[in-house]
Amino acid sequence: MKKSRSDLLSIASGFSALVFGFFIFAVTLSCSSSEVASIEKKPPNILFVFSDDHAYQAISAYGSVINQTPNIDRIAREGMLFQNCLVTNSICAPSREVVITGKHSHMNGVIDNRVEFDNTQTIFPKLLQQAGYETAMIGKWHLKSEPAGFDYWEVLPGQGRYYNPQFRTPDGMVEYTGYTTHIITEKALDWLKEKRDKEKPFMLLYWHKAPHRNWQPGPDYLTLFDDRDIPEPETLFDDYSNRTSAAKTQEMTVAKHLNERDLKFTAPGNLTPEQLSQWNAAYGPKNQQFEEKALSGDDLVRWKYQRYIKDYLRCVQAVDDNLGKVLDYLDEANLSDNTVVIYSSDQGFYLGEHGWFDKRFIYEESLRMPLLIRWPGRIQPGSVDTHLVQNLDFAPTLLEMAGVEVPADFQGRSMMPLLEGQTAPDWRQTAYYHYYEYPGAHSVRRHYGVRTDRYKLAYFYNLDEWEFFDLEKDPNELVSRYDDLEYSGEIQDLKNELNRLRQLYKVPEVDPPSERPVR
Ligand code: CA
Repeated sequence: MKKSRSDLLSIASGFSALVFGFFIFAVTLSCSSSEVASIEKKPPNILFVFSDDHAYQAISAYGSVINQTPNIDRIAREGMLFQNCLVTNSICAPSREVVITGKHSHMNGVIDNRVEFDNTQTIFPKLLQQAGYETAMIGKWHLKSEPAGFDYWEVLPGQGRYYNPQFRTPDGMVEYTGYTTHIITEKALDWLKEKRDKEKPFMLLYWHKAPHRNWQPGPDYLTLFDDRDIPEPETLFDDYSNRTSAAKTQEMTVAKHLNERDLKFTAPGNLTPEQLSQWNAAYGPKNQQFEEKALSGDDLVRWKYQRYIKDYLRCVQAVDDNLGKVLDYLDEANLSDNTVVIYSSDQGFYLGEHGWFDKRFIYEESLRMPLLIRWPGRIQPGSVDTHLVQNLDFAPTLLEMAGVEVPADFQGRSMMPLLEGQTAPDWRQTAYYHYYEYPGAHSVRRHYGVRTDRYKLAYFYNLDEWEFFDLEKDPNELVSRYDDLEYSGEIQDLKNELNRLRQLYKVPEVDPPSERPVR
Protein backbone atom coordinates (compact mmCIF):
# COMPACT_ATOMS: atom_id res chain seq x y z
CA MET A 1 0.00 0.00 0.00
CA LYS A 2 2.67 2.44 1.11
CA LYS A 3 4.94 1.52 -1.81
CA SER A 4 2.34 1.85 -4.51
CA ARG A 5 1.29 5.20 -3.04
CA SER A 6 4.83 6.54 -3.15
CA ASP A 7 5.24 5.23 -6.71
CA LEU A 8 2.13 7.12 -7.70
CA LEU A 9 3.44 10.21 -5.97
CA SER A 10 6.77 10.10 -7.74
CA ILE A 11 5.04 9.72 -11.10
CA ALA A 12 2.78 12.62 -10.21
CA SER A 13 5.65 14.82 -9.07
CA GLY A 14 7.65 14.02 -12.20
CA PHE A 15 4.67 15.01 -14.30
CA SER A 16 4.06 18.20 -12.31
CA ALA A 17 7.76 19.12 -12.59
CA LEU A 18 7.44 18.85 -16.37
CA VAL A 19 4.32 20.98 -16.38
CA PHE A 20 5.92 23.47 -13.99
CA GLY A 21 9.06 23.69 -16.15
CA PHE A 22 6.96 24.46 -19.21
CA PHE A 23 4.97 27.01 -17.19
CA ILE A 24 8.14 28.87 -16.13
CA PHE A 25 9.36 28.84 -19.74
CA ALA A 26 6.05 30.29 -20.92
CA VAL A 27 5.94 32.88 -18.13
CA THR A 28 9.51 33.97 -18.84
CA LEU A 29 8.72 34.45 -22.51
CA SER A 30 5.66 36.54 -21.77
CA CYS A 31 7.19 38.72 -19.02
CA SER A 32 9.26 41.85 -19.26
CA SER A 33 12.55 41.78 -17.34
CA SER A 34 11.09 43.81 -14.43
CA GLU A 35 8.28 41.27 -14.10
CA VAL A 36 10.81 38.44 -13.98
CA ALA A 37 12.70 40.30 -11.24
CA SER A 38 9.52 40.67 -9.20
CA ILE A 39 8.82 36.94 -9.53
CA GLU A 40 12.33 36.23 -8.25
CA LYS A 41 11.80 38.56 -5.31
CA LYS A 42 8.67 36.83 -4.08
CA PRO A 43 8.75 36.20 -0.33
CA PRO A 44 10.41 32.93 0.63
CA ASN A 45 8.56 30.03 2.17
CA ILE A 46 9.62 29.38 5.74
CA LEU A 47 9.97 25.92 7.27
CA PHE A 48 10.85 26.30 10.94
CA VAL A 49 11.82 22.96 12.47
CA PHE A 50 11.95 23.02 16.26
CA SER A 51 12.66 20.21 18.67
CA ASP A 52 12.43 20.09 22.43
CA ASP A 53 15.56 19.84 24.57
CA HIS A 54 17.86 18.87 21.70
CA ALA A 55 21.38 19.71 22.87
CA TYR A 56 24.09 20.81 20.45
CA GLN A 57 26.27 18.05 21.92
CA ALA A 58 23.98 15.59 20.15
CA ILE A 59 24.32 17.08 16.66
CA SER A 60 27.24 15.93 14.53
CA ALA A 61 27.48 19.31 12.77
CA TYR A 62 28.34 20.72 16.22
CA GLY A 63 31.02 18.07 16.69
CA SER A 64 29.03 15.44 18.56
CA VAL A 65 31.13 12.50 19.68
CA ILE A 66 28.06 10.49 20.67
CA ASN A 67 25.83 10.33 17.56
CA GLN A 68 25.36 11.23 13.92
CA THR A 69 22.63 13.53 12.58
CA PRO A 70 23.13 13.53 8.80
CA ASN A 71 19.97 15.46 7.97
CA ILE A 72 20.54 18.31 10.42
CA ASP A 73 24.14 18.33 9.18
CA ARG A 74 22.80 18.83 5.69
CA ILE A 75 21.33 22.19 6.75
CA ALA A 76 24.77 23.15 8.12
CA ARG A 77 26.49 22.04 4.92
CA GLU A 78 24.05 23.93 2.71
CA GLY A 79 23.55 26.90 5.05
CA MET A 80 24.81 28.56 8.22
CA LEU A 81 25.54 27.13 11.66
CA PHE A 82 25.39 29.44 14.68
CA GLN A 83 27.95 28.63 17.38
CA ASN A 84 26.62 31.06 19.95
CA CYS A 85 22.84 31.04 19.90
CA LEU A 86 21.87 31.61 23.55
CA VAL A 87 18.46 31.08 25.10
CA THR A 88 17.17 33.88 27.34
CA ASN A 89 15.45 31.55 29.86
CA SER A 90 16.27 27.86 29.58
CA ILE A 91 12.91 26.15 29.93
CA CYS A 92 10.29 25.01 27.43
CA ALA A 93 7.24 27.32 27.36
CA PRO A 94 9.18 30.51 28.16
CA SER A 95 11.66 29.85 25.35
CA ARG A 96 8.83 29.30 22.88
CA GLU A 97 7.17 32.56 23.95
CA VAL A 98 10.37 34.48 23.46
CA VAL A 99 10.65 32.92 20.00
CA ILE A 100 7.16 33.97 18.91
CA THR A 101 6.98 37.37 20.62
CA GLY A 102 10.55 38.61 20.15
CA LYS A 103 10.41 39.76 23.78
CA HIS A 104 11.98 38.63 27.04
CA SER A 105 9.93 36.54 29.48
CA HIS A 106 9.18 39.45 31.82
CA MET A 107 7.66 41.34 28.87
CA ASN A 108 5.54 38.52 27.36
CA GLY A 109 4.48 37.31 30.80
CA VAL A 110 5.54 33.67 30.53
CA ILE A 111 8.33 33.56 33.08
CA ASP A 112 7.93 29.83 33.72
CA ASN A 113 6.01 26.76 32.57
CA ARG A 114 3.04 27.57 34.83
CA VAL A 115 1.88 30.82 33.29
CA GLU A 116 -0.76 30.80 30.55
CA PHE A 117 0.27 32.84 27.52
CA ASP A 118 -1.98 35.76 26.58
CA ASN A 119 -2.47 34.91 22.91
CA THR A 120 -3.81 38.36 22.05
CA GLN A 121 -0.20 39.58 22.02
CA THR A 122 1.55 40.44 18.78
CA ILE A 123 3.46 37.39 17.57
CA PHE A 124 5.30 36.75 14.33
CA PRO A 125 2.86 34.11 12.95
CA LYS A 126 0.02 36.68 13.06
CA LEU A 127 2.13 39.26 11.26
CA LEU A 128 3.13 36.78 8.55
CA GLN A 129 -0.48 35.69 8.15
CA GLN A 130 -1.56 39.33 7.80
CA ALA A 131 1.17 39.82 5.20
CA GLY A 132 -0.34 37.09 3.03
CA TYR A 133 1.46 33.99 4.25
CA GLU A 134 -0.35 30.68 4.60
CA THR A 135 0.59 29.68 8.15
CA ALA A 136 0.50 26.37 10.02
CA MET A 137 1.58 25.01 13.39
CA ILE A 138 1.95 21.24 13.69
CA GLY A 139 3.37 19.41 16.71
CA LYS A 140 4.32 20.55 20.19
CA TRP A 141 3.14 24.04 21.07
CA HIS A 142 3.35 23.69 24.86
CA LEU A 143 1.43 26.84 25.64
CA LYS A 144 -1.79 26.54 27.54
CA SER A 145 -3.63 28.99 25.29
CA GLU A 146 -4.67 28.13 21.71
CA PRO A 147 -2.29 28.82 18.83
CA ALA A 148 -3.18 32.18 17.24
CA GLY A 149 -2.13 33.44 13.83
CA PHE A 150 -2.40 30.13 12.00
CA ASP A 151 -4.56 29.09 9.06
CA TYR A 152 -4.05 25.50 10.20
CA TRP A 153 -3.00 24.08 13.54
CA GLU A 154 -2.86 20.71 15.20
CA VAL A 155 -0.89 20.57 18.45
CA LEU A 156 -0.13 18.17 21.27
CA PRO A 157 -1.88 19.02 24.53
CA GLY A 158 0.83 20.12 26.99
CA GLN A 159 3.84 17.83 26.73
CA GLY A 160 1.91 15.30 24.65
CA ARG A 161 2.72 11.61 24.44
CA TYR A 162 5.49 9.80 22.59
CA TYR A 163 3.13 7.04 21.51
CA ASN A 164 -0.48 7.19 20.30
CA PRO A 165 -0.80 10.95 20.76
CA GLN A 166 -3.81 13.15 21.16
CA PHE A 167 -3.83 16.44 19.25
CA ARG A 168 -5.76 19.62 19.96
CA THR A 169 -7.36 21.03 16.83
CA PRO A 170 -9.81 23.90 16.21
CA ASP A 171 -12.49 21.16 16.03
CA GLY A 172 -11.58 19.46 19.30
CA MET A 173 -9.32 16.63 20.36
CA VAL A 174 -8.29 13.83 17.98
CA GLU A 175 -6.19 10.74 18.70
CA TYR A 176 -3.85 8.69 16.53
CA THR A 177 -2.09 5.35 16.81
CA GLY A 178 1.64 5.37 16.19
CA TYR A 179 4.87 7.14 17.14
CA THR A 180 4.49 10.85 17.65
CA THR A 181 7.67 11.99 15.85
CA HIS A 182 6.50 10.11 12.74
CA ILE A 183 2.92 11.35 13.07
CA ILE A 184 3.94 15.02 13.38
CA THR A 185 6.03 14.55 10.22
CA GLU A 186 3.20 12.89 8.31
CA LYS A 187 0.92 15.76 9.26
CA ALA A 188 3.51 18.34 8.21
CA LEU A 189 4.00 16.60 4.85
CA ASP A 190 0.26 16.24 4.36
CA TRP A 191 -0.20 19.96 4.97
CA LEU A 192 2.61 20.85 2.57
CA LYS A 193 1.25 18.53 -0.12
CA GLU A 194 -2.52 18.78 0.24
CA LYS A 195 -3.84 21.25 2.75
CA ARG A 196 -2.21 24.62 2.09
CA ASP A 197 -3.17 27.34 -0.37
CA LYS A 198 -0.38 26.98 -2.91
CA GLU A 199 -0.96 30.49 -4.29
CA LYS A 200 0.57 31.93 -1.11
CA PRO A 201 4.02 31.63 0.41
CA PHE A 202 3.92 29.30 3.40
CA MET A 203 5.24 29.43 6.94
CA LEU A 204 5.16 26.04 8.63
CA LEU A 205 6.13 25.51 12.25
CA TYR A 206 7.06 21.81 12.35
CA TRP A 207 7.73 21.45 16.04
CA HIS A 208 8.65 18.12 17.62
CA LYS A 209 8.01 16.87 21.12
CA ALA A 210 11.21 14.82 21.04
CA PRO A 211 13.69 14.47 22.64
CA HIS A 212 11.95 15.74 25.79
CA ARG A 213 11.91 13.62 28.96
CA ASN A 214 10.80 10.88 29.58
CA TRP A 215 12.55 9.61 26.55
CA GLN A 216 10.53 6.92 24.76
CA PRO A 217 12.18 5.71 21.57
CA GLY A 218 10.03 4.68 18.63
CA PRO A 219 9.53 1.04 17.62
CA ASP A 220 12.31 1.24 15.02
CA TYR A 221 14.84 2.66 17.48
CA LEU A 222 14.46 0.53 20.61
CA THR A 223 17.73 -1.34 20.20
CA LEU A 224 19.80 1.33 18.44
CA PHE A 225 23.15 1.79 20.29
CA ASP A 226 22.76 -1.57 22.10
CA ASP A 227 26.04 -2.66 20.54
CA ARG A 228 28.20 0.12 21.98
CA ASP A 229 28.92 2.32 24.98
CA ILE A 230 28.39 6.05 24.54
CA PRO A 231 31.42 8.13 25.69
CA GLU A 232 30.87 9.75 29.09
CA PRO A 233 31.23 13.52 29.49
CA GLU A 234 34.29 14.68 31.44
CA THR A 235 32.15 16.12 34.21
CA LEU A 236 29.82 13.16 34.87
CA PHE A 237 31.16 12.94 38.44
CA ASP A 238 31.21 16.68 39.17
CA ASP A 239 31.17 17.35 42.95
CA TYR A 240 29.97 21.00 42.61
CA SER A 241 32.86 22.35 44.65
CA ASN A 242 33.95 25.91 43.80
CA ARG A 243 30.43 26.97 42.88
CA THR A 244 27.42 28.44 44.71
CA SER A 245 24.93 26.45 46.76
CA ALA A 246 22.59 26.55 43.71
CA ALA A 247 24.74 23.99 41.89
CA LYS A 248 24.82 21.80 44.99
CA THR A 249 21.10 21.80 45.80
CA GLN A 250 19.51 21.15 42.38
CA GLU A 251 17.58 17.93 41.81
CA MET A 252 18.55 16.83 38.32
CA THR A 253 21.37 14.35 38.74
CA VAL A 254 21.70 11.20 36.70
CA ALA A 255 22.80 9.52 39.95
CA LYS A 256 19.74 10.32 42.06
CA HIS A 257 16.91 11.93 40.14
CA LEU A 258 16.02 9.74 37.18
CA ASN A 259 12.86 7.78 37.95
CA GLU A 260 11.61 4.28 37.08
CA ARG A 261 10.02 5.47 33.85
CA ASP A 262 13.09 7.46 32.82
CA LEU A 263 15.17 4.33 33.33
CA LYS A 264 12.67 2.09 31.50
CA PHE A 265 11.92 -0.25 34.37
CA THR A 266 8.31 0.63 33.61
CA ALA A 267 6.82 0.56 30.09
CA PRO A 268 4.68 3.51 28.93
CA GLY A 269 1.10 2.97 30.07
CA ASN A 270 -0.66 3.58 26.76
CA LEU A 271 1.00 1.19 24.29
CA THR A 272 -1.00 -1.06 21.99
CA PRO A 273 -0.42 -4.81 22.58
CA GLU A 274 1.91 -4.87 19.55
CA GLN A 275 3.88 -1.83 20.70
CA LEU A 276 4.14 -3.27 24.22
CA SER A 277 5.42 -6.54 22.88
CA GLN A 278 8.14 -4.73 20.84
CA TRP A 279 8.98 -2.63 23.87
CA ASN A 280 9.32 -5.62 26.19
CA ALA A 281 11.34 -7.56 23.63
CA ALA A 282 13.83 -4.67 23.58
CA TYR A 283 13.98 -3.65 27.26
CA GLY A 284 13.24 -7.04 28.91
CA PRO A 285 16.66 -8.59 28.20
CA LYS A 286 18.48 -5.29 28.93
CA ASN A 287 16.71 -4.98 32.29
CA GLN A 288 17.47 -8.59 33.13
CA GLN A 289 21.18 -8.05 32.46
CA PHE A 290 21.08 -5.03 34.73
CA GLU A 291 19.48 -7.03 37.57
CA GLU A 292 22.12 -9.74 37.26
CA LYS A 293 24.96 -7.24 37.53
CA ALA A 294 23.74 -5.82 40.88
CA LEU A 295 25.67 -2.58 40.30
CA SER A 296 26.33 0.07 42.93
CA GLY A 297 28.24 3.34 43.42
CA ASP A 298 29.91 4.88 40.37
CA ASP A 299 29.21 1.78 38.29
CA LEU A 300 25.50 2.27 38.85
CA VAL A 301 25.77 5.95 37.83
CA ARG A 302 27.61 4.88 34.68
CA TRP A 303 24.87 2.39 33.87
CA LYS A 304 22.17 5.03 34.42
CA TYR A 305 24.05 7.43 32.15
CA GLN A 306 24.17 4.81 29.38
CA ARG A 307 20.47 4.03 29.77
CA TYR A 308 19.57 7.72 29.76
CA ILE A 309 21.78 8.85 26.91
CA LYS A 310 20.91 5.98 24.59
CA ASP A 311 17.19 6.58 24.97
CA TYR A 312 17.72 10.31 24.47
CA LEU A 313 19.76 9.68 21.31
CA ARG A 314 17.20 7.19 20.01
CA CYS A 315 14.58 9.95 20.24
CA VAL A 316 16.96 12.36 18.47
CA GLN A 317 17.56 9.87 15.68
CA ALA A 318 13.85 9.78 14.86
CA VAL A 319 13.82 13.58 14.65
CA ASP A 320 16.77 13.56 12.28
CA ASP A 321 15.40 10.75 10.09
CA ASN A 322 12.04 12.50 9.80
CA LEU A 323 13.68 15.83 8.99
CA GLY A 324 15.34 13.98 6.10
CA LYS A 325 11.92 13.01 4.73
CA VAL A 326 10.78 16.64 4.80
CA LEU A 327 13.98 17.95 3.17
CA ASP A 328 13.60 15.28 0.48
CA TYR A 329 10.04 16.38 -0.14
CA LEU A 330 11.12 20.01 -0.56
CA ASP A 331 13.58 18.82 -3.21
CA GLU A 332 11.03 16.62 -4.98
CA ALA A 333 8.46 19.42 -5.05
CA ASN A 334 11.01 21.99 -6.30
CA LEU A 335 10.46 24.02 -3.15
CA SER A 336 14.01 23.98 -1.75
CA ASP A 337 15.30 26.98 -3.69
CA ASN A 338 12.74 29.40 -2.30
CA THR A 339 12.28 27.93 1.17
CA VAL A 340 14.18 29.03 4.24
CA VAL A 341 14.79 26.00 6.46
CA ILE A 342 15.57 26.61 10.12
CA TYR A 343 16.52 23.94 12.64
CA SER A 344 16.63 24.79 16.32
CA SER A 345 15.57 23.55 19.73
CA ASP A 346 13.88 25.45 22.56
CA GLN A 347 17.07 25.23 24.60
CA GLY A 348 20.05 23.01 25.24
CA PHE A 349 20.28 20.15 27.72
CA TYR A 350 22.75 18.41 30.01
CA LEU A 351 23.77 15.08 28.55
CA GLY A 352 25.47 13.94 31.74
CA GLU A 353 27.67 17.06 31.99
CA HIS A 354 27.95 18.09 35.65
CA GLY A 355 26.30 14.74 36.37
CA TRP A 356 22.98 16.16 35.15
CA PHE A 357 20.06 15.77 32.83
CA ASP A 358 17.59 18.69 32.28
CA LYS A 359 18.36 22.36 31.64
CA ARG A 360 17.48 25.67 33.48
CA PHE A 361 21.01 26.77 34.51
CA ILE A 362 23.01 29.43 32.68
CA TYR A 363 25.90 26.96 32.17
CA GLU A 364 26.80 26.40 28.53
CA GLU A 365 25.11 23.07 27.78
CA SER A 366 21.61 24.39 28.51
CA LEU A 367 22.31 28.02 27.58
CA ARG A 368 23.31 27.28 24.00
CA MET A 369 20.64 26.40 21.46
CA PRO A 370 21.40 24.66 18.19
CA LEU A 371 20.60 26.98 15.28
CA LEU A 372 21.10 26.15 11.61
CA ILE A 373 19.56 28.05 8.71
CA ARG A 374 19.52 27.28 5.00
CA TRP A 375 18.43 29.78 2.36
CA PRO A 376 19.78 29.06 -1.11
CA GLY A 377 21.12 32.14 -2.85
CA ARG A 378 21.14 34.23 0.31
CA ILE A 379 23.25 32.24 2.79
CA GLN A 380 26.71 31.00 1.88
CA PRO A 381 26.72 27.18 2.12
CA GLY A 382 28.86 25.76 4.90
CA SER A 383 29.19 29.07 6.77
CA VAL A 384 29.60 29.39 10.54
CA ASP A 385 28.59 32.42 12.60
CA THR A 386 29.96 33.17 16.07
CA HIS A 387 28.00 36.31 17.01
CA LEU A 388 25.93 36.22 20.21
CA VAL A 389 22.44 35.64 18.86
CA GLN A 390 19.42 34.70 20.94
CA ASN A 391 15.97 33.16 20.54
CA LEU A 392 14.89 36.78 21.05
CA ASP A 393 16.12 37.42 17.49
CA PHE A 394 14.10 34.71 15.75
CA ALA A 395 10.87 36.70 15.31
CA PRO A 396 12.54 39.85 13.89
CA THR A 397 14.62 37.67 11.56
CA LEU A 398 11.61 35.77 10.21
CA LEU A 399 9.73 39.02 9.66
CA GLU A 400 12.61 40.63 7.78
CA MET A 401 13.02 37.49 5.65
CA ALA A 402 9.38 37.90 4.64
CA GLY A 403 9.71 41.65 4.05
CA VAL A 404 7.44 42.47 7.00
CA GLU A 405 8.17 45.41 9.28
CA VAL A 406 9.41 44.48 12.75
CA PRO A 407 7.28 46.07 15.53
CA ALA A 408 9.22 48.71 17.47
CA ASP A 409 8.64 47.04 20.83
CA PHE A 410 10.26 43.72 19.82
CA GLN A 411 13.44 43.38 21.87
CA GLY A 412 15.40 41.14 19.52
CA ARG A 413 17.21 42.06 16.35
CA SER A 414 17.07 40.59 12.86
CA MET A 415 19.95 38.25 12.06
CA MET A 416 19.67 39.00 8.33
CA PRO A 417 23.02 40.88 8.13
CA LEU A 418 24.73 37.88 9.75
CA LEU A 419 22.94 35.45 7.45
CA GLU A 420 24.14 37.41 4.44
CA GLY A 421 27.72 37.43 5.73
CA GLN A 422 27.83 41.19 6.25
CA THR A 423 29.89 42.70 9.02
CA ALA A 424 27.72 43.82 11.89
CA PRO A 425 30.03 45.97 14.04
CA ASP A 426 27.19 47.11 16.27
CA TRP A 427 25.95 43.58 17.03
CA ARG A 428 25.48 42.80 20.76
CA GLN A 429 28.64 41.92 22.65
CA THR A 430 26.79 40.65 25.70
CA ALA A 431 23.67 38.51 26.18
CA TYR A 432 21.18 38.66 29.08
CA TYR A 433 19.79 35.55 30.76
CA HIS A 434 17.07 35.15 33.41
CA TYR A 435 15.63 31.94 34.88
CA TYR A 436 12.60 32.10 37.23
CA GLU A 437 11.04 28.69 37.91
CA TYR A 438 11.83 28.28 41.62
CA PRO A 439 10.36 26.77 43.66
CA GLY A 440 9.75 24.18 41.00
CA ALA A 441 10.77 20.91 39.38
CA HIS A 442 14.49 20.16 39.74
CA SER A 443 14.98 22.93 42.33
CA VAL A 444 17.14 25.22 40.25
CA ARG A 445 17.37 28.60 41.99
CA ARG A 446 16.34 31.81 40.24
CA HIS A 447 19.21 33.62 38.64
CA TYR A 448 20.12 36.17 36.05
CA GLY A 449 23.39 36.72 34.30
CA VAL A 450 25.38 37.94 31.36
CA ARG A 451 27.61 36.13 28.90
CA THR A 452 30.26 37.61 26.60
CA ASP A 453 32.37 35.74 24.08
CA ARG A 454 34.72 34.83 26.94
CA TYR A 455 33.18 35.48 30.35
CA LYS A 456 30.03 34.69 32.25
CA LEU A 457 28.66 36.32 35.39
CA ALA A 458 25.60 34.88 37.14
CA TYR A 459 23.68 36.13 40.19
CA PHE A 460 21.49 33.76 42.21
CA TYR A 461 19.60 36.67 43.67
CA ASN A 462 17.48 34.93 46.26
CA LEU A 463 20.67 33.41 47.66
CA ASP A 464 22.74 36.56 47.13
CA GLU A 465 25.47 34.37 45.63
CA TRP A 466 27.51 35.11 42.49
CA GLU A 467 29.45 32.99 40.03
CA PHE A 468 31.99 34.11 37.45
CA PHE A 469 33.66 31.92 34.83
CA ASP A 470 36.48 32.43 32.37
CA LEU A 471 35.24 30.18 29.56
CA GLU A 472 38.56 30.31 27.76
CA LYS A 473 40.45 28.84 30.72
CA ASP A 474 37.60 26.81 32.18
CA PRO A 475 35.23 25.75 29.37
CA ASN A 476 33.55 23.17 31.61
CA GLU A 477 32.69 25.86 34.20
CA LEU A 478 34.06 23.97 37.17
CA VAL A 479 35.65 26.82 39.14
CA SER A 480 33.90 30.10 39.82
CA ARG A 481 36.47 32.89 39.92
CA TYR A 482 34.12 35.37 41.54
CA ASP A 483 36.47 35.89 44.53
CA ASP A 484 39.63 35.90 42.43
CA LEU A 485 41.23 39.37 42.57
CA GLU A 486 42.79 38.79 39.17
CA TYR A 487 39.31 39.16 37.65
CA SER A 488 37.94 42.01 39.80
CA GLY A 489 38.04 44.46 36.86
CA GLU A 490 36.18 42.12 34.50
CA ILE A 491 33.63 41.31 37.19
CA GLN A 492 32.90 44.96 37.89
CA ASP A 493 32.55 45.65 34.16
CA LEU A 494 30.08 42.79 33.86
CA LYS A 495 28.07 44.00 36.87
CA ASN A 496 27.78 47.38 35.17
CA GLU A 497 26.80 45.64 31.96
CA LEU A 498 24.14 43.60 33.76
CA ASN A 499 22.63 46.83 35.09
CA ARG A 500 22.67 48.32 31.62
CA LEU A 501 20.99 45.26 30.09
CA ARG A 502 18.34 45.15 32.82
CA GLN A 503 17.48 48.77 32.10
CA LEU A 504 17.58 48.27 28.33
CA TYR A 505 15.18 45.32 28.52
CA LYS A 506 13.03 46.92 31.26
CA VAL A 507 13.51 44.05 33.72
CA PRO A 508 11.40 44.82 36.83
CA GLU A 509 13.03 44.83 40.27
CA VAL A 510 10.38 42.39 41.53
CA ASP A 511 9.80 39.24 39.48
CA PRO A 512 6.51 39.09 37.55
CA PRO A 513 3.93 36.69 39.03
CA SER A 514 3.89 32.99 38.33
CA GLU A 515 0.48 31.40 37.85
CA ARG A 516 0.77 29.45 41.08
CA PRO A 517 1.50 31.31 44.30
CA VAL A 518 5.21 31.44 44.93
CA ARG A 519 6.37 30.73 48.45
CA1 CA B 1 12.42 22.22 26.15
